Amino acid sequence: MSSTDLLVIGAGPAGLMAAIKAADEGLKVTILESMPRPARKLGISGKGRGNLTNTAPFNDFLKHFNNEGRFLKSAFKAFFNTDLIIFFEQEGLKTVEERGGRVFVASGKATEAVACLHRAAEKRKVTIYTGTPAKELIVKSSQCYGAITTDNRTFYAGSTLLATGGLSYPLTGSTGDGLRLARLCGHEIVPPLPSLVALKPEVSLPSAIEGIALRNVAVELRCNGKKTGEEFGEMSFLDGYLAGPVIITLSRKAVPEMADGKRCEIIVDLKPALDYAKLDKRILRDIEENAGTTLENIVAKLLPAGMRQFCLQQTGLNGQIKAAQITSEHRKILRNWLKELKFTLCGQGPWEQAIVTAGGVSTRQVNPATLESKIVKNLYFAGEILDIDADTGGYNLQAAFSTGWLVGQSIKKEKP
Ligand SMILES: Cc1cc2nc3c(=O)[nH]c(=O)nc-3n(C[C@H](O)[C@H](O)[C@H](O)COP(=O)(O)OP(=O)(O)OC[C@H]3O[C@@H](n4cnc5c(N)ncnc54)[C@H](O)[C@@H]3O)c2cc1C
Repeated sequence: MSSTDLLVIGAGPAGLMAAIKAADEGLKVTILESMPRPARKLGISGKGRGNLTNTAPFNDFLKHFNNEGRFLKSAFKAFFNTDLIIFFEQEGLKTVEERGGRVFVASGKATEAVACLHRAAEKRKVTIYTGTPAKELIVKSSQCYGAITTDNRTFYAGSTLLATGGLSYPLTGSTGDGLRLARLCGHEIVPPLPSLVALKPEVSLPSAIEGIALRNVAVELRCNGKKTGEEFGEMSFLDGYLAGPVIITLSRKAVPEMADGKRCEIIVDLKPALDYAKLDKRILRDIEENAGTTLENIVAKLLPAGMRQFCLQQTGLNGQIKAAQITSEHRKILRNWLKELKFTLCGQGPWEQAIVTAGGVSTRQVNPATLESKIVKNLYFAGEILDIDADTGGYNLQAAFSTGWLVGQSIKKEKP
């Protein structure tokens, strides 16, 4: 049996930051972490480079979250992007700003951010028990007194923080355990859905297009016939899924719409720089300049290698006809396909591949100013376990750090 001021369950970015801030405020802090090492997910974040935050101004930053980030205003007011950059610098970790305001670990190694946080916690005498999952919260008369671990050790605490993350990438330790613990003590859970994830088309994609990346394409998401989202950039075909940055971004809207039973489509404009008339002129020019060639070769001039057969297969055009035999009807079919390549969706990638979890502990039962539960005294929440999720770009990690920091600060305020 052990006693502490703050018991943190989960040593991810949210839990570690809460521990560091609370220790700075003079509290005795203990962390329980189920994995052998802390913050495994942070260590693989940003393709291993750690996109820690974004330099977007406050109001723009909020727009990247569900519900326009209303719940997060207090947390971001307490500890925002520049505070995080300064914090890391003071702890010896340099960061670098890149395209789109994305802030990365300067060395390009996210694991250095993990090591930095671990060092910062140890320096402040935070006790970390790794390989020690919490299995149960000690709750009596709507008040939390700590937790019991899977090896039946009891940790009593003045305050307890659930910072166990969501359900995505379960191999990193985020198994949804905290959601179970929150539900058991009466918290409403907004049904979790994988987000920032590849999307599954109904049609099975031919192996020839596997791995192809389409750059500078305009992609629209249409749900029940209504335009629901639009992105410009890169998409790819991976393991039978639509993937790449624009698809990952659109998945935040597509997944909940599909869960609502809506019929969703991805419509790709492969030639966004050309309107229909200009594209027709371009095709005509290719035909005139290559009169002796085949339609297949005309198509090849317009598309990356590998996409040619897919185009012919989908449009039903005969690739072997001579350029001179290409009619205006053929051109129209080709043009429409290039401007409106349509994929009806039938699902999304699994939890194992989702970057974040949408849904989680309902923010209606959590005080945004302190992150304390409104229904269980001395129980706090931070990070992805909460019903908060955002676009890619460093927003999700900043939310984890800011909510963690706010918890560390709130506990001090309430128990001087
Ligand atoms: C591949 C990938 C790349 C990403 N890249 C970025 C990026 O570049 N930028 C960005 O902003 N976001 C990124 N994200 C999202 C970001 O990593 C998460 O939003 C963030 O890690 C959430 O932090 P957290 O502390 O809330 O939870 P987590 O990081 O999930 O940490 C939760 C911790 O709790 C532990 N735990 C769980 N249950 C228990 C239990 N019962 N007892 C004890 N411990 C428990 C887990 O083992 C884990 O260590 C990425 C996510 C993935 C999967």
